[in-house]
Amino acid sequence: MTKNSSNVMALAPNTSNKRETVCIFGTGDFGRALGYKMIQAGYPVVFGSRSTQTSSLIPKDAEVLSHAEAAQKAAIIIIAIQRQHYNFLTPLAEILRGKVLVDISNNLKINQYPESNAEYLAQLVPGAKVVKAFNTVSAWALQSGTLDASRQVFVCGDDVEAKQMVMDIVRALGLTPLDQGSLLAAQEIENYPLQLFPMWKFPILLSLGLVTFFFFYCLTRDVIYPYVIENKDFSFFIAISIPNRICPILALTLLALVYLPGILAAIIQLYRGTKYRRFPDWLDKWMLCRKQLGLVALAFASLHVLYTLVIPIRSFVRWRISSQIVSQASFALNNKTEPLDNTNAWLSDSYLALGILGFFLFVLLGITSLPSVSNNVNWREFRFVQSKLGYLTLILCTAHTLVYGGKWFLSPSSYRWYLPSAYMLSLVFPCIVLVVKSVLIFPCLDKPLTRIRQGWERNPRYSE
Ligand code: NAP
Repeated sequence: MTKNSSNVMALAPNTSNKRETVCIFGTGDFGRALGYKMIQAGYPVVFGSRSTQTSSLIPKDAEVLSHAEAAQKAAIIIIAIQRQHYNFLTPLAEILRGKVLVDISNNLKINQYPESNAEYLAQLVPGAKVVKAFNTVSAWALQSGTLDASRQVFVCGDDVEAKQMVMDIVRALGLTPLDQGSLLAAQEIENYPLQLFPMWKFPILLSLGLVTFFFFYCLTRDVIYPYVIENKDFSFFIAISIPNRICPILALTLLALVYLPGILAAIIQLYRGTKYRRFPDWLDKWMLCRKQLGLVALAFASLHVLYTLVIPIRSFVRWRISSQIVSQASFALNNKTEPLDNTNAWLSDSYLALGILGFFLFVLLGITSLPSVSNNVNWREFRFVQSKLGYLTLILCTAHTLVYGGKWFLSPSSYRWYLPSAYMLSLVFPCIVLVVKSVLIFPCLDKPLTRIRQGWERNPRYSE
């Protein structure tokens, strides 16, 4: 590649305080917003445009020239133009030789084109050094100064020096550059702004499905059954009682589903006798969204706590308590007193204590999964909290549910139309997880599993 002398000079790292001129192609929303920000940061800005007439929208300290004239004034050119118009750059290829071209473009769909926009730009202008940057920042955020949500700027490119220059500009604008490597990463960076909570999709859809199922399940058992069989109207259960059944069920089930894929992975590794074969896709995806599953579970547990707090002020509960007082008073009139049922008192206190401890550890797990906290603990500490404390949380919450309804487990009155209480269903996954986990910690299984995870293979494919 031949470099002309002006380009070599311009590409030298800037050691003085004076900022190098930056050229922006395109005077649209993003070009103007970036231009304002750069002028604020002390960069002389020149716009390359199809029309050299300036307007009140264009930052007043910026020059507006033709593309060719503007390109000659700067070593870095930001292409603030949609990909479909990149063809106009082909005739400018000689002028752009050796320059740093910053591709900031986004697409309308994920993987819209076979190659990334930045790679396409590099093909159109082969003599230029293409860097991908700024596409995750919006024009609105740049202009309004509310950059908190998108302060990170992913940067990638094949030329290290060019990438460094762009990262310097990013820093000067008060943003944080994140080096993503070569231009091969551009496609992923371009897809990033188009993603809609990718890791949350499965946990949220699963929760919606489970909420719907348990809502109709509880409605059938707690509202429709008493209405049909006993002619009692408990439709008001829909407001608090049923949600307060669904929330703990979801919290416990989803928490168990956080630990189930780890157990399945262990069984698969033990069966295969190696860790060097890929897990099925569904298991990989499930493992990747465990944090989100856990956070959704925590949200349901928190709702359960809130619903439980309002129980004493519910009209139905106050009516029941006053009826009990009346019945006890009539008992007392006959010189009889109902003795305190010690077993019940123990069960009720243990149930509450297990719930409080379980929720406390649940919150602790949620806090340690936040990036600001998890970044400050090492891998062993993180594993200790998420695995050991996580299992302890699951044990406490499962015990909380067992103590709540254990005594009615086999009672025929708790089955309505052959349907068991909903809390019994919530115990299925946690019990499976805890039973299998307690089997897996037996030395005869734990030892080979640990060896497999350290790289040992039962039938090595490559003998030394
Ligand atoms: P825009 O407002 O439509 O501006 C695009 C500019 O491209 C026009 O103002 C025009 O500038 C130039 N242009 C249009 N047709 C052209 C053609 N046929 N040949 C040459 N130049 C042409 O779009 P924008 O919102 O600024 O977006 C520009 C780029 O930034 C896009 O690739 C977009 O994906 C990316 N981006 C935008 C945002 C955002 O928040 N807007 C965020 C991240 C990335 P002149 O009239 O001066 O020639």
